[in-house]
This record gives sequence, structure tokens and C-alpha cells, in this order.
Amino acid sequence: MLSMDLYNAIENNLKQQRQTILFLNRRGYSTFIMCRNCGYTVKCKNCNISMTYHSYERKLKCHYCGYEEEVVTICPECHSDKIRYFGTGTQKLEQEIHKQFPTAKTIRMDVDTVTKKNSHEKILNQFKNENLDILIGTQMVVKGHHFPNVTLVGVIAADSSLNIDDYRANERTFQILTQVARTSW
Ligand SMILES: [Zn+2]
Ligand SMILES: [Zn+2]
Repeated sequence: MLSMDLYNAIENNLKQQRQTILFLNRRGYSTFIMCRNCGYTVKCKNCNISMTYHSYERKLKCHYCGYEEEVVTICPECHSDKIRYFGTGTQKLEQEIHKQFPTAKTIRMDVDTVTKKNSHEKILNQFKNENLDILIGTQMVVKGHHFPNVTLVGVIAADSSLNIDDYRANERTFQILTQVARTSW
């Protein structure tokens, strides 16, 4: 999930007590669920897009219409147990970071962690004021924030937004990447 360069850069930043932002524009844990036996993929019955697995609630969710369903382990098409979970969202990235850097203090910011009580500002202030090591987030983290102690911004799967079915995909990707790079000065 992390390139060797990024891994080394994070390690170095931790040693120097500098802060890191990791940007991944997909929330949830696994971003698609497929049967290894017949190729069936679990899609939203309303929108026909891939359902995302959310590990904290143990639910599958559609990020477009909000439809939720229980975790699937048996394929509804071929009835095999070869259902597998693929793709990486922010929840899986956070877990992976804890595995690779067990002492790092992390905070996650995406639609699932930002609530009324736990606002956008509150999370960012906590990251800044408590000098937490790594902020993991979706494009929410990119909007015009400046953190003097952030000296590394890592973009995970930077090309993923190029595959979106939108004629502005190239432009949008460029915009997000330049914005996220600007959060560290
Ligand atoms: Zn199947
Ligand atoms: Zn849907």
C-alpha cells in the first residue's frame, strides 16, 4: 500500500517529530467485494455501483445513496464461499499504518469521523495542537489548511481519481494534488 520511498519518508518524519498527512480519496475499509469463483461483485441495488465495506460498523454501504446491507460471505449468484474483499479505503490505511508504525499517533478525517460533535475544525485542531504524527484523510483534508509542522504529504493511489467517469477527471485530479501538496509549506 505504501511505496518504499513513502515508507522511508514517514519513518524519517516520525524520528524528527515532524507531522505527516496521508491522503486517500476513498473512505471505508474495502472498496469492492467480489466472488473469486464467478466474478460477481456486490453492488448497490439502487445505484449499481460497488458497495464499500465499513469495518467499524461491519456493514456494506453505498456511498451514493446511503443504502446499507449486511456483510456478504456467501456469493448470492453461485453460492460459493469465495467472496473476497478488495481495494483500500481510509479505514484500512489507518490499520495498516498502525501495523507498520506502532508508536505513531494517528487521526482520521473522512465523512465517517466528522460528525456534529467531532467537527472538521476539532479534528484539525487536535492534529495541530497535540502534534499528532499522522493525519489520514479523504479530500476533506486538502481544503486550504496550513500546518507549519507538516513536512510530508503522501498521496495514496494518486491515479485512482483518473478512472472516474467524468470528463473533468484529469483536471480534478490535478487540482486535488496541487491542493494537498500546498497543505505543507
Ligand atoms: Zn459467485
Ligand atoms: Zn446506492
